[in-house]
Amino acid sequence: MRILFHDLTLDPEPWLAALRLAFPQADVALWQPGAPQADYALVWAPPQQLLDEQPRLKALFNIAAGVDALLKLRLPAGVPVFRLDDAGMAVQMAEYVAQAVIRFYRELDAVQADAQAGRWQQRQPQPRAQCPVGVMGLGVLGQRVLRGLQAFDFPLRGWSRTPKHMEGVQTFAGPEQWHEFLAGSRVLVNLLPLTPETENILNRSSLSRLLPGAYLINVARGRHLVDEDLLALLDNRHLVGALLDVFRQEPLPAEHPFWREPRIRITPHTSARTLQQESLSQMVAKMAALQAGAKPESLGGLVRPQVGY
Ligand code: NDP
Repeated sequence: MRILFHDLTLDPEPWLAALRLAFPQADVALWQPGAPQADYALVWAPPQQLLDEQPRLKALFNIAAGVDALLKLRLPAGVPVFRLDDAGMAVQMAEYVAQAVIRFYRELDAVQADAQAGRWQQRQPQPRAQCPVGVMGLGVLGQRVLRGLQAFDFPLRGWSRTPKHMEGVQTFAGPEQWHEFLAGSRVLVNLLPLTPETENILNRSSLSRLLPGAYLINVARGRHLVDEDLLALLDNRHLVGALLDVFRQEPLPAEHPFWREPRIRITPHTSARTLQQESLSQMVAKMAALQAGAKPESLGGLVRPQVGY
């Protein structure tokens, strides 16, 4: 068995070592142009050449949950593609979003500013009913985020492509219920995959439909958001703030106006990091299952390129 690895964003040595430990008989190597045909490839943002040279892979593993970068490329025909399926990211996303929602709801930024200015000022508690949280995307991450928020009794809403049922969450589906979903949400959390249907979905028209005094949390992809529309809605005060973890260009360029807007909080694509041990054990288990004859459809995280995620 031969396994190739290609991810220029991380130190490959611990990954290669762990793969060799899991499959002592296998030939595990960093991808090089002209590498012999492999059985499996673990990749993040691979060059097209890698995909063109490996037409007989038994599976391709994307070292991330989002596959938008991979699906822009020409994939080897008929090769199953797997993405990371939670692998320790869902709980990170749940804690990140929960802290952001609580920070907004409890006005902790203003409280902190008071403290920094030496002001002792208590704020009026807001009715929780006036802070419904809407989560776009009811997949692995969106559902975990909603389960986390349930602990704090916020009214919860969720929107997905196909109808979903979630106890304690008012659910909406498809373009026909999109506006209704937005109209009842004050905090909007984006956890959609980036596809042709969802690109630029956070724009002036959609964000204006949120309840007044709305707050945006974008933890999915920068290309979901039309940057200038967010700035315009902060200017007209329909939105009161945003927490952004992802951007059209990363790192966010120094001259980008988001850096200078105090109502926008910025984190460096850090809401849910890829964890080496969890990710590898998930991919190793899938390779072992495929080697033992399992059908790709029976394993979680199989990407449907025709749907876009
Ligand atoms: P899933 O594939 O499990 O879930 C995607 C959800 O989005 C599904 O509920 C799906 O609907 C819904 N959806 C897709 N297209 C549409 C559409 N056109 N209209 C309405 N709903 C739609 O993905 P994950 O939860 O694992 O991950 C979501 C995204 O989070 C990733 O694609 C990635 O971009 C981002 N991410 C960001 C990270 C970060 O650090 N900032 C880390 C990890 C992921 P249905 O249920 O009907 O299929």
